[in-house]
Amino acid sequence: MTQAASVDYESFRAEVRAFLDANMPPEIREATRLTASMFPHMPTAVAWQKVLHGQGWAAPHWPVEFGGPGWDATQQMIFREEQDRAGAPATIMQGLFMCGPVLMGHGTRAQQDHYLPRLLSAEHIWCQGYSEPGSGSDLASLKTAAVPDGDDYIINGSKIWTSNAHESTHMFALVRTSTEGRPQQGITFLLLEMDTPGITVEPILNLNGVQEQCQVFFDDVRVPRANRVGAENDGWTVAKYLLEFERSMSYTAPLKKRLAQIRRSAEAEVTADGSPLIDDRVFRRRLAEAEIDTNAFIATEMRVREATLAGQPPGPSASVLKIAGADMRQELDSLWLQSVGLLGLPLQPEALVPGNNVEALVPDHALTAMATWLDDRSSTIAGGSAEVQRSIVAKAVLGL
Ligand SMILES: Cc1cc2nc3c(=O)[nH]c(=O)nc-3n(C[C@H](O)[C@H](O)[C@H](O)COP(=O)(O)OP(=O)(O)OC[C@H]3O[C@@H](n4cnc5c(N)ncnc54)[C@H](O)[C@@H]3O)c2cc1C
Repeated sequence: MTQAASVDYESFRAEVRAFLDANMPPEIREATRLTASMFPHMPTAVAWQKVLHGQGWAAPHWPVEFGGPGWDATQQMIFREEQDRAGAPATIMQGLFMCGPVLMGHGTRAQQDHYLPRLLSAEHIWCQGYSEPGSGSDLASLKTAAVPDGDDYIINGSKIWTSNAHESTHMFALVRTSTEGRPQQGITFLLLEMDTPGITVEPILNLNGVQEQCQVFFDDVRVPRANRVGAENDGWTVAKYLLEFERSMSYTAPLKKRLAQIRRSAEAEVTADGSPLIDDRVFRRRLAEAEIDTNAFIATEMRVREATLAGQPPGPSASVLKIAGADMRQELDSLWLQSVGLLGLPLQPEALVPGNNVEALVPDHALTAMATWLDDRSSTIAGGSAEVQRSIVAKAVLGL
């Protein structure tokens, strides 16, 4: 781990903590407490990103030239830890982790100047239009067509599982501009505004009763050619670049948050002999194993993050992080659910809406356990399924 001699990490942590404590509104902390998803509650996340933006901290991982604070990997980790401690919502990932880096790497200067500041300030909220009905793992088979017409493309087709599409102002999308040659060769990367005539968004209800994913329909949607990122028919290059960033997003914060939730539950729950679950030797052993695994994972993530900061794209190690991070989330969810026993059974989505006045059926420490467990079933699918990631590792890392 890099230890820049000039950075006093303890002072940095104190500075971050003081700012977060002074600026975290109670309603944001409460909304975060009720969130049982890998995605944040959008109005809360937007409000919080605006607060961070005012301080210049909206995108800790961005280079200084594009509005990042210039922190090293350790500072970024400290910031994530402190955000979590303070009850901050998760970052709106599609913009800050996906669209932003892609525009820095492949956008024109005009696109960077227009979109990046608005992305940082949360004026623009982005969603990701990659998957289609029939084109998920086999993304290159996508069919949504963009036909050139003067200075525009005309788009017809559909995207599915588009997270937060109903709450987004913009979408970055992969569209088919040619059916010649290999499927990868006829794909183009486009930026579009969600209020463009011809776009319809239909909700999909999740397993845990929350609505985050959508299906999006395009019916003769006109998008300026100037909104293309990279060359026509070369969108696959841009898409692959973006996916590496998507798959190497931080898993540390959710894992640490989950460990804290398990610990709180185990302190509140009692075993048959009346003693707290946290004192049970078998349980303590399982919790210790989970903590060791989490710390090993965090060290690995830090190595990848430092390499990324040094200018190397994450490469196939992004897939390793994706597989391990998702597996660990699911394991921790199970441990949490087991720790709350029967209290984990009720699923009460209405009690998880920020500002609700619904009487919760179970105590606070168990309120989001089942909803979180159900939500995280998707973590081995979203962003590329675990099976497909394993194939990438087998090919690119193990040379099989
Ligand atoms: C919560 C959530 C949020 C999402 N958000 C977005 C979003 O914002 N934008 C977006 O574009 N997409 C999004 N997705 C879609 C996601 O990227 C796809 O679901 C994923 O890539 C899998 O594609 P699929 O659903 O079409 O499944 P399929 O590709 O049909 O796969 C079905 C099963 O077959 C297996 N399989 C498929 N091919 C292979 C293979 N070659 N080798 C071994 N096994 C294989 C898969 O692992 C899986 O188990 C989201 C999905 C989820 C669950």
